Amino acid sequence: MLGVDMPAKMNVPFFNYPRVYTDERDQLLKIFDEVGQRGAFILQQDLRDFETALAQYTGSKHAIGVGNATDGLEFGWMSIGLRPGDEVIFCSHTMLATAAAIKTAGGTPIPVELADDNLIDLDAVEDAINPRTVGIMPTQLNGRTCDMERLMNIAQRHRLFVVEDAAQALGSRFKGKHAGTFGHASAISFFPAKVLGSLGDGGAVLTNDAGIFDRSFQLHDHGRDVEGEVRSWGRNSRLDNLQAAILHFRLKSYDQVITRRRAVAAIYQARLGDLEELQLPPAPDANPDHFDVYQNYELQADRRDELKEHLKANGIGTLVQWGGKAVHQWERLGFLVKLPKVERFFRRCIMLPMNMFVSNEEVHYVCDQVRSFYRT
Ligand SMILES: *Cc1c(COP(=O)(O)O)cnc(C)c1O
Repeated sequence: MLGVDMPAKMNVPFFNYPRVYTDERDQLLKIFDEVGQRGAFILQQDLRDFETALAQYTGSKHAIGVGNATDGLEFGWMSIGLRPGDEVIFCSHTMLATAAAIKTAGGTPIPVELADDNLIDLDAVEDAINPRTVGIMPTQLNGRTCDMERLMNIAQRHRLFVVEDAAQALGSRFKGKHAGTFGHASAISFFPAKVLGSLGDGGAVLTNDAGIFDRSFQLHDHGRDVEGEVRSWGRNSRLDNLQAAILHFRLKSYDQVITRRRAVAAIYQARLGDLEELQLPPAPDANPDHFDVYQNYELQADRRDELKEHLKANGIGTLVQWGGKAVHQWERLGFLVKLPKVERFFRRCIMLPMNMFVSNEEVHYVCDQVRSFYRT
Protein backbone atom coordinates (compact mmCIF):
# COMPACT_ATOMS: atom_id res chain seq x y z
CA MET A 1 0.00 0.00 0.00
CA LEU A 2 2.24 2.73 -1.28
CA GLY A 3 1.57 6.16 0.09
CA VAL A 4 0.03 4.95 3.36
CA ASP A 5 2.10 6.03 6.34
CA MET A 6 2.71 2.72 8.11
CA PRO A 7 5.27 2.73 10.92
CA ALA A 8 8.39 0.84 9.89
CA LYS A 9 8.60 -2.58 11.50
CA MET A 10 11.08 -2.69 14.35
CA ASN A 11 12.69 -5.54 16.19
CA VAL A 12 12.27 -5.20 19.96
CA PRO A 13 13.48 -8.30 21.81
CA PHE A 14 12.07 -8.95 25.26
CA PHE A 15 15.60 -8.95 26.66
CA ASN A 16 18.94 -8.63 24.91
CA TYR A 17 21.44 -10.85 26.75
CA PRO A 18 24.58 -9.91 24.76
CA ARG A 19 24.09 -6.27 25.75
CA VAL A 20 24.54 -7.20 29.45
CA TYR A 21 28.14 -7.51 28.30
CA THR A 22 28.58 -5.40 25.17
CA ASP A 23 27.18 -2.11 26.54
CA GLU A 24 30.02 -1.96 29.09
CA ARG A 25 32.57 -4.13 27.38
CA ASP A 26 35.59 -1.87 27.88
CA GLN A 27 35.02 -1.33 31.60
CA LEU A 28 34.22 -5.01 32.14
CA LEU A 29 37.37 -6.15 30.37
CA LYS A 30 39.36 -3.80 32.57
CA ILE A 31 37.81 -5.26 35.73
CA PHE A 32 38.35 -8.80 34.43
CA ASP A 33 41.99 -8.07 33.69
CA GLU A 34 42.66 -6.26 36.95
CA VAL A 35 41.04 -8.92 39.14
CA GLY A 36 42.56 -11.72 37.07
CA GLN A 37 46.09 -10.31 37.39
CA ARG A 38 45.68 -10.30 41.15
CA GLY A 39 44.43 -13.88 41.09
CA ALA A 40 41.59 -12.72 43.33
CA PHE A 41 38.91 -15.29 42.57
CA ILE A 42 37.34 -16.56 45.80
CA LEU A 43 36.42 -14.67 49.00
CA GLN A 44 38.64 -11.68 48.26
CA GLN A 45 38.52 -7.97 49.00
CA ASP A 46 36.29 -7.11 45.99
CA LEU A 47 33.59 -9.34 47.46
CA ARG A 48 33.93 -7.81 50.94
CA ASP A 49 33.80 -4.31 49.44
CA PHE A 50 30.69 -5.15 47.43
CA GLU A 51 28.97 -6.68 50.46
CA THR A 52 29.71 -3.52 52.45
CA ALA A 53 28.42 -1.29 49.64
CA LEU A 54 25.27 -3.39 49.26
CA ALA A 55 24.53 -3.28 52.98
CA GLN A 56 25.05 0.47 52.94
CA TYR A 57 22.88 0.98 49.87
CA THR A 58 19.94 -0.98 51.26
CA GLY A 59 20.36 0.04 54.87
CA SER A 60 20.77 -3.58 55.93
CA LYS A 61 23.14 -4.45 58.80
CA HIS A 62 24.64 -7.40 56.96
CA ALA A 63 24.98 -8.58 53.36
CA ILE A 64 26.50 -11.91 52.31
CA GLY A 65 27.32 -12.66 48.68
CA VAL A 66 26.04 -16.13 47.79
CA GLY A 67 25.91 -18.33 44.69
CA ASN A 68 22.35 -17.34 43.75
CA ALA A 69 19.19 -16.00 45.38
CA THR A 70 17.58 -19.45 45.60
CA ASP A 71 20.37 -20.59 47.93
CA GLY A 72 20.11 -17.31 49.81
CA LEU A 73 16.37 -17.80 50.47
CA GLU A 74 17.02 -21.35 51.62
CA PHE A 75 19.77 -20.13 53.95
CA GLY A 76 17.31 -17.66 55.44
CA TRP A 77 14.87 -20.42 56.41
CA MET A 78 17.62 -22.87 57.39
CA SER A 79 19.07 -20.23 59.71
CA ILE A 80 15.67 -19.70 61.32
CA GLY A 81 15.18 -23.47 61.50
CA LEU A 82 12.08 -25.14 60.08
CA ARG A 83 10.75 -28.45 61.45
CA PRO A 84 8.61 -30.95 59.52
CA GLY A 85 5.03 -29.64 59.38
CA ASP A 86 6.01 -26.00 59.86
CA GLU A 87 3.99 -23.91 57.43
CA VAL A 88 5.19 -20.83 55.59
CA ILE A 89 2.71 -18.73 53.62
CA PHE A 90 3.70 -17.31 50.20
CA CYS A 91 1.89 -15.91 47.15
CA SER A 92 1.54 -18.43 44.32
CA HIS A 93 2.47 -15.76 41.75
CA THR A 94 6.22 -16.10 42.28
CA MET A 95 9.16 -18.07 41.02
CA LEU A 96 9.27 -21.73 42.06
CA ALA A 97 12.43 -20.82 43.98
CA THR A 98 10.36 -19.09 46.68
CA ALA A 99 8.39 -22.22 47.54
CA ALA A 100 11.40 -24.46 46.94
CA ALA A 101 13.41 -22.58 49.58
CA ILE A 102 10.71 -23.33 52.17
CA LYS A 103 10.53 -26.97 51.08
CA THR A 104 14.26 -27.68 50.93
CA ALA A 105 14.74 -26.00 54.31
CA GLY A 106 12.30 -28.56 55.75
CA GLY A 107 8.99 -26.69 55.87
CA THR A 108 5.66 -26.80 54.04
CA PRO A 109 4.96 -24.02 51.51
CA ILE A 110 1.35 -22.72 51.68
CA PRO A 111 0.32 -20.78 48.56
CA VAL A 112 -2.19 -17.92 48.76
CA GLU A 113 -3.85 -15.38 46.45
CA LEU A 114 -2.51 -12.14 44.99
CA ALA A 115 -3.97 -8.69 45.60
CA ASP A 116 -4.84 -6.00 43.05
CA ASP A 117 -1.23 -4.81 42.78
CA ASN A 118 -0.15 -8.40 41.92
CA LEU A 119 1.62 -8.91 45.28
CA ILE A 120 0.64 -11.21 48.14
CA ASP A 121 -2.92 -10.63 49.44
CA LEU A 122 -2.57 -9.82 53.14
CA ASP A 123 -6.21 -10.71 53.89
CA ALA A 124 -5.49 -14.14 52.41
CA VAL A 125 -2.37 -14.36 54.58
CA GLU A 126 -4.42 -13.70 57.72
CA ASP A 127 -6.97 -16.32 56.65
CA ALA A 128 -4.23 -18.92 56.10
CA ILE A 129 -2.65 -18.54 59.53
CA ASN A 130 -3.22 -21.54 61.81
CA PRO A 131 -1.33 -23.17 64.71
CA ARG A 132 1.19 -24.78 62.31
CA THR A 133 2.12 -21.46 60.67
CA VAL A 134 5.64 -20.29 61.48
CA GLY A 135 6.36 -17.78 58.73
CA ILE A 136 5.39 -15.55 55.84
CA MET A 137 7.46 -15.22 52.68
CA PRO A 138 6.37 -12.24 50.60
CA THR A 139 7.80 -11.85 47.11
CA GLN A 140 8.64 -8.23 46.28
CA LEU A 141 7.56 -9.01 42.75
CA ASN A 142 8.41 -7.09 39.60
CA GLY A 143 10.40 -4.61 41.69
CA ARG A 144 7.53 -3.56 43.97
CA THR A 145 7.58 -3.90 47.75
CA CYS A 146 4.40 -5.05 49.55
CA ASP A 147 2.77 -3.10 52.33
CA MET A 148 5.42 -4.36 54.74
CA GLU A 149 4.02 -2.31 57.61
CA ARG A 150 0.84 -4.35 57.67
CA LEU A 151 2.66 -7.59 56.87
CA MET A 152 5.14 -7.17 59.75
CA ASN A 153 2.25 -6.24 61.98
CA ILE A 154 0.50 -9.52 61.16
CA ALA A 155 3.77 -11.39 61.68
CA GLN A 156 4.38 -9.81 65.07
CA ARG A 157 0.84 -10.44 66.25
CA HIS A 158 1.18 -14.14 65.42
CA ARG A 159 4.89 -14.44 66.27
CA LEU A 160 5.85 -15.44 62.74
CA PHE A 161 9.17 -15.24 60.93
CA VAL A 162 9.44 -13.29 57.69
CA VAL A 163 11.89 -14.01 54.90
CA GLU A 164 11.46 -11.66 51.95
CA ASP A 165 12.02 -12.87 48.43
CA ALA A 166 13.59 -9.63 47.22
CA ALA A 167 15.23 -11.31 44.22
CA GLN A 168 13.59 -8.76 41.88
CA ALA A 169 13.57 -5.75 44.14
CA LEU A 170 16.98 -4.22 44.82
CA GLY A 171 16.38 -0.52 45.46
CA SER A 172 12.60 -0.86 45.74
CA ARG A 173 11.12 0.81 48.82
CA PHE A 174 8.00 0.94 50.94
CA LYS A 175 7.65 4.18 52.94
CA GLY A 176 11.30 4.88 52.23
CA LYS A 177 12.61 1.57 53.57
CA HIS A 178 14.33 -0.85 51.21
CA ALA A 179 12.93 -4.19 50.09
CA GLY A 180 14.77 -6.96 51.85
CA THR A 181 15.30 -5.07 55.10
CA PHE A 182 11.91 -5.51 56.80
CA GLY A 183 11.89 -9.19 57.71
CA HIS A 184 14.33 -11.48 59.51
CA ALA A 185 16.22 -12.18 56.29
CA SER A 186 15.92 -11.75 52.53
CA ALA A 187 17.70 -12.59 49.32
CA ILE A 188 18.48 -10.56 46.21
CA SER A 189 19.33 -12.07 42.82
CA PHE A 190 22.02 -10.94 40.40
CA PHE A 191 20.90 -13.22 37.55
CA PRO A 192 21.90 -11.38 34.32
CA ALA A 193 18.34 -10.24 33.51
CA LYS A 194 17.69 -8.91 37.01
CA VAL A 195 17.73 -5.18 37.75
CA LEU A 196 21.31 -5.48 38.98
CA GLY A 197 22.73 -8.27 36.84
CA SER A 198 26.08 -10.04 36.83
CA LEU A 199 27.62 -12.12 34.04
CA GLY A 200 26.35 -15.36 35.53
CA ASP A 201 24.62 -16.59 38.66
CA GLY A 202 24.87 -14.59 41.85
CA GLY A 203 22.88 -13.48 44.87
CA ALA A 204 23.03 -11.95 48.32
CA VAL A 205 21.47 -12.56 51.73
CA LEU A 206 20.47 -9.46 53.68
CA THR A 207 19.72 -9.54 57.39
CA ASN A 208 19.72 -7.29 60.44
CA ASP A 209 19.82 -10.29 62.77
CA ALA A 210 23.26 -11.24 64.14
CA GLY A 211 22.30 -14.90 64.66
CA ILE A 212 20.87 -15.32 61.16
CA PHE A 213 23.94 -13.61 59.74
CA ASP A 214 26.25 -16.05 61.56
CA ARG A 215 24.32 -19.14 60.47
CA SER A 216 23.84 -17.99 56.86
CA PHE A 217 27.51 -17.09 56.63
CA GLN A 218 28.48 -20.57 57.81
CA LEU A 219 26.02 -22.25 55.45
CA HIS A 220 27.52 -20.46 52.43
CA ASP A 221 31.15 -21.39 53.20
CA HIS A 222 31.50 -24.94 54.52
CA GLY A 223 30.36 -24.11 58.04
CA ARG A 224 33.16 -21.59 58.61
CA ASP A 225 32.56 -18.33 60.43
CA VAL A 226 34.10 -14.99 59.47
CA GLU A 227 37.31 -15.98 61.28
CA GLY A 228 37.55 -19.25 59.35
CA GLU A 229 36.65 -21.39 62.37
CA VAL A 230 34.32 -24.32 61.56
CA ARG A 231 31.13 -23.97 63.62
CA SER A 232 28.59 -26.16 61.82
CA TRP A 233 27.90 -28.15 58.67
CA GLY A 234 27.73 -26.00 55.60
CA ARG A 235 28.10 -26.07 51.85
CA ASN A 236 29.69 -23.97 49.15
CA SER A 237 27.53 -21.17 47.79
CA ARG A 238 29.81 -18.16 47.46
CA LEU A 239 29.47 -15.17 45.15
CA ASP A 240 32.51 -15.15 42.83
CA ASN A 241 34.92 -12.37 43.62
CA LEU A 242 35.03 -11.39 39.94
CA GLN A 243 31.24 -11.11 39.77
CA ALA A 244 31.32 -9.06 42.98
CA ALA A 245 33.80 -6.64 41.40
CA ILE A 246 31.51 -6.27 38.37
CA LEU A 247 28.42 -5.82 40.57
CA HIS A 248 30.16 -3.22 42.70
CA PHE A 249 31.05 -1.28 39.56
CA ARG A 250 27.42 -1.47 38.42
CA LEU A 251 25.98 -0.56 41.81
CA LYS A 252 27.67 2.83 41.55
CA SER A 253 25.39 3.88 38.69
CA TYR A 254 22.40 1.84 39.84
CA ASP A 255 20.22 4.85 40.66
CA GLN A 256 20.31 5.79 36.97
CA VAL A 257 19.12 2.28 36.13
CA ILE A 258 16.10 2.73 38.38
CA THR A 259 15.36 6.19 36.97
CA ARG A 260 15.40 4.82 33.44
CA ARG A 261 13.15 1.88 34.25
CA ARG A 262 10.64 4.17 35.93
CA ALA A 263 10.73 6.42 32.85
CA VAL A 264 9.90 3.44 30.60
CA ALA A 265 7.01 2.50 32.93
CA ALA A 266 5.74 6.08 32.74
CA ILE A 267 5.63 5.91 28.94
CA TYR A 268 3.68 2.64 29.02
CA GLN A 269 1.28 4.19 31.52
CA ALA A 270 0.78 7.35 29.47
CA ARG A 271 0.29 5.50 26.19
CA LEU A 272 -1.77 2.49 27.37
CA GLY A 273 -3.54 3.73 30.50
CA ASP A 274 -6.81 4.45 28.68
CA LEU A 275 -7.28 0.95 27.18
CA GLU A 276 -9.97 -0.80 29.21
CA GLU A 277 -8.84 -4.15 27.77
CA LEU A 278 -5.68 -3.87 29.88
CA GLN A 279 -4.91 -3.72 33.58
CA LEU A 280 -1.55 -2.04 33.93
CA PRO A 281 0.71 -2.36 36.98
CA PRO A 282 0.71 0.60 39.39
CA ALA A 283 2.19 3.72 37.78
CA PRO A 284 5.51 5.07 39.11
CA ASP A 285 3.81 8.03 40.79
CA ALA A 286 0.56 6.28 41.76
CA ASN A 287 1.23 6.01 45.50
CA PRO A 288 3.97 7.86 47.40
CA ASP A 289 4.33 4.92 49.85
CA HIS A 290 5.68 2.75 47.06
CA PHE A 291 8.90 3.25 45.12
CA ASP A 292 8.98 0.57 42.40
CA VAL A 293 12.04 -0.36 40.34
CA TYR A 294 10.16 -2.23 37.57
CA GLN A 295 12.15 -5.43 37.28
CA ASN A 296 9.31 -6.29 34.89
CA TYR A 297 6.36 -4.53 33.33
CA GLU A 298 3.63 -7.10 33.83
CA LEU A 299 0.02 -6.40 32.90
CA GLN A 300 -3.23 -8.24 32.34
CA ALA A 301 -4.74 -8.21 28.88
CA ASP A 302 -7.97 -9.36 27.24
CA ARG A 303 -7.26 -11.89 24.47
CA ARG A 304 -3.75 -12.23 25.86
CA ASP A 305 -2.59 -15.03 23.54
CA GLU A 306 -3.74 -13.16 20.42
CA LEU A 307 -2.04 -10.00 21.64
CA LYS A 308 1.17 -11.94 22.17
CA GLU A 309 0.96 -13.33 18.62
CA HIS A 310 0.21 -9.89 17.18
CA LEU A 311 3.23 -8.39 18.92
CA LYS A 312 5.43 -11.28 17.86
CA ALA A 313 4.36 -10.84 14.23
CA ASN A 314 5.43 -7.22 14.55
CA GLY A 315 8.88 -8.03 15.91
CA ILE A 316 8.16 -7.52 19.62
CA GLY A 317 9.24 -10.03 22.23
CA THR A 318 7.01 -10.59 25.28
CA LEU A 319 6.99 -13.11 28.09
CA VAL A 320 4.37 -14.88 30.16
CA GLN A 321 5.92 -15.17 33.60
CA TRP A 322 7.12 -18.46 35.12
CA GLY A 323 6.34 -20.64 32.09
CA GLY A 324 2.67 -19.62 32.23
CA LYS A 325 1.74 -21.13 35.60
CA ALA A 326 1.59 -20.10 39.21
CA VAL A 327 3.50 -22.31 41.66
CA HIS A 328 0.44 -24.26 42.83
CA GLN A 329 -0.53 -25.06 39.21
CA TRP A 330 2.49 -27.36 38.65
CA GLU A 331 0.52 -30.55 39.35
CA ARG A 332 3.48 -32.78 40.13
CA LEU A 333 4.43 -30.61 43.11
CA GLY A 334 1.34 -31.87 44.92
CA PHE A 335 -0.54 -28.68 45.78
CA LEU A 336 -4.26 -29.33 46.21
CA VAL A 337 -5.58 -25.76 46.47
CA LYS A 338 -7.48 -23.73 43.91
CA LEU A 339 -6.65 -20.02 43.80
CA PRO A 340 -9.16 -18.41 41.39
CA LYS A 341 -7.60 -14.94 41.33
CA VAL A 342 -4.10 -16.21 40.62
CA GLU A 343 -5.42 -18.64 38.01
CA ARG A 344 -7.38 -15.92 36.23
CA PHE A 345 -4.28 -13.75 36.34
CA PHE A 346 -2.25 -16.45 34.59
CA ARG A 347 -4.76 -16.61 31.76
CA ARG A 348 -4.33 -12.87 31.21
CA CYS A 349 -0.80 -11.85 32.15
CA ILE A 350 1.96 -10.74 29.81
CA MET A 351 5.18 -8.79 30.22
CA LEU A 352 6.24 -6.09 27.77
CA PRO A 353 9.92 -5.20 27.12
CA MET A 354 11.31 -3.47 30.24
CA ASN A 355 15.05 -3.20 30.47
CA MET A 356 18.01 -0.85 30.05
CA PHE A 357 18.37 -1.53 26.33
CA VAL A 358 14.95 -0.56 25.02
CA SER A 359 14.82 2.99 23.61
CA ASN A 360 11.95 5.48 23.93
CA GLU A 361 11.29 5.04 20.22
CA GLU A 362 11.00 1.27 20.70
CA VAL A 363 8.70 1.66 23.72
CA HIS A 364 6.45 3.92 21.64
CA TYR A 365 6.51 1.36 18.84
CA VAL A 366 5.41 -1.35 21.31
CA CYS A 367 2.59 0.93 22.48
CA ASP A 368 1.56 1.65 18.87
CA GLN A 369 1.31 -2.07 18.23
CA VAL A 370 -0.68 -2.78 21.42
CA ARG A 371 -3.07 0.04 20.53
CA SER A 372 -3.48 -1.09 16.94
CA PHE A 373 -4.34 -4.62 18.19
CA TYR A 374 -7.28 -3.35 20.23
CA ARG A 375 -8.36 -0.41 18.11
CA THR A 376 -8.44 -1.66 14.52
C1 LIG B 1 15.13 -14.72 39.94
C2 LIG B 1 14.27 -15.05 41.11
C3 LIG B 1 14.65 -15.95 42.10
C4 LIG B 1 15.88 -16.81 41.99
O1 LIG B 1 17.07 -16.11 41.83
P1 LIG B 1 18.36 -16.91 41.39
O2 LIG B 1 19.48 -15.96 41.70
O3 LIG B 1 18.24 -17.19 39.93
O4 LIG B 1 18.45 -18.14 42.21
C5 LIG B 1 13.82 -16.14 43.18
N1 LIG B 1 12.68 -15.47 43.30
C6 LIG B 1 12.26 -14.60 42.37
C7 LIG B 1 10.97 -13.86 42.57
C8 LIG B 1 13.04 -14.37 41.23
O5 LIG B 1 12.60 -13.52 40.30
